[in-house]
Amino acid sequence: MKKILSIFIMFTLVFAMTACGSQTETSGGGSETGSNSSSSSNTASASNGKTIGIAMPTKSSQRWIDDGNNMVKQFEALGYKTDLQYAEDVVENQVSQIENMITKGVAALVIASIDGEALTDVLAKANEAGIPVIAYDRLIRNSEHVSYYATFDNFKVGVQQGSYIEEKLGLKEGKGPFNIELFGGSPDDNNAYFFYDGAMSVLQPYIDNGQLVVKSGQMGMDKVSTLRWDGATAQARMDNLLSAHYTTERIDAVLSPYDGISIGIISSLKGVGYGTADMPMPIVTGQDAELPSIKSIIAGEQTQTVFKDTRVLAAKAVEMVDAVLNGKEPEVNDTTTYDNGVKVVPSYLCEPVSVDITNYKEVLVESGYYSESDFQ
Ligand code: BGC
Repeated sequence: MKKILSIFIMFTLVFAMTACGSQTETSGGGSETGSNSSSSSNTASASNGKTIGIAMPTKSSQRWIDDGNNMVKQFEALGYKTDLQYAEDVVENQVSQIENMITKGVAALVIASIDGEALTDVLAKANEAGIPVIAYDRLIRNSEHVSYYATFDNFKVGVQQGSYIEEKLGLKEGKGPFNIELFGGSPDDNNAYFFYDGAMSVLQPYIDNGQLVVKSGQMGMDKVSTLRWDGATAQARMDNLLSAHYTTERIDAVLSPYDGISIGIISSLKGVGYGTADMPMPIVTGQDAELPSIKSIIAGEQTQTVFKDTRVLAAKAVEMVDAVLNGKEPEVNDTTTYDNGVKVVPSYLCEPVSVDITNYKEVLVESGYYSESDFQ
C-alpha cells in the first residue's frame, strides 16, 4: 500500500514538474548566493552575458532564499548573469533595489513583491528603459508593465488547507460542531486573498450550517490578515483569541496560511497547555513546507503544510525570461484569473501539494527537495 502510495506521489510530482515545463536538478536548500554572479556556459542565444535582476522580499523565510538560489543557478546555466537582492520586507528597500537594477541596465526583472501595490512608478521606469518584468509568485498590481506572472495555483493552496480541515474533522460525514479560528496572510499580498478565498470555499458552508464555529466571530481578510506574514503578530493575535474565547472551551482547528504563522500560533497554543495527551493540539495548517514546520509535523504539533516546489517555479520564471529575451512567447496556462487592476496578466500556475505526516517523506525526500538528515 505504502509503495503504491509513493509511486502515485512520485508520479504526481513528476507530472507537476513537467507540467511546469521543467526538469530541474538543483536542490531546494543550499547556501546564499551573492549578487552579480557570472557564468561561463552559454546555451541560449539571447543570454550573451546579460544580467537578470532578481528582487526577492526577504531572507527571513527559507522559501525565498531557495527561490533566489534556484533562479541564479538556472539563469547561469543558460549563460546569464544575475543580480539577486533581498529587501528584508521593507517596501522602500525593494523599490530602490529595483531602481538600481534599472540604472545598471539589467536585461529583465523578476520580482517577488513585498507590497504588490507599491511598484507602479518603478515599473513605469523599467518600461521606459525597455526592461520586461516577470511577476514571481506574487502578482504586481496596478501596472500595465507586468509582462508575465509565474506562480502556483494560489486558490488551490487555500482549497488544500480547507479540505484538510474538512477531512480531518469529518465534516463531510456531518461531525461537529467544532471550534475553529481563521488566519490570513499579508493584506498587501494579492496571494493572501486567493489563499483565504480558496480555504473559505470549503469551510464557509460548514460555518453557515453550524458544524464549524468561529467563537471570536473574526472572519474576512479585513479581520484576520497578518501584516507581512509575521509569525510574532500571529502569535499575539492567537494569545488574545485564546484568552478571550477559549478558557473553558477547546479550539479544534486553526486555518493558517503560512508555516511562519503556524509556528507562531503553535507557540501560543503550547503556552496555554495544548500539545499534551490531555490537551492535544488542534489541527493547524500551513504553507511552504519549511524545515521548522516539517520538524513540527514530525513532532506532532503542526498538522499540515502545502509544498510549493521552488525549483519548479524558478524554472518557469527562467523559461519566461529566456523566451521574452529571445522574442518568443512563453508558455502560459492561465489567461483569465490574475487581473492586476489594469490588465489580466498572462500566467503560469504550478501545482501545490498538500503534505502531512503520512506523505512528507514521499513528497519531500523522494523528490530530492530535502534529505532525511535535514529533519534531525
Ligand atoms: C507566498 C507563500 C508564502 C507567503 C509568505 C506568499 O506570497 O505565495 O508561499 O508562504 O507569501 O512568505
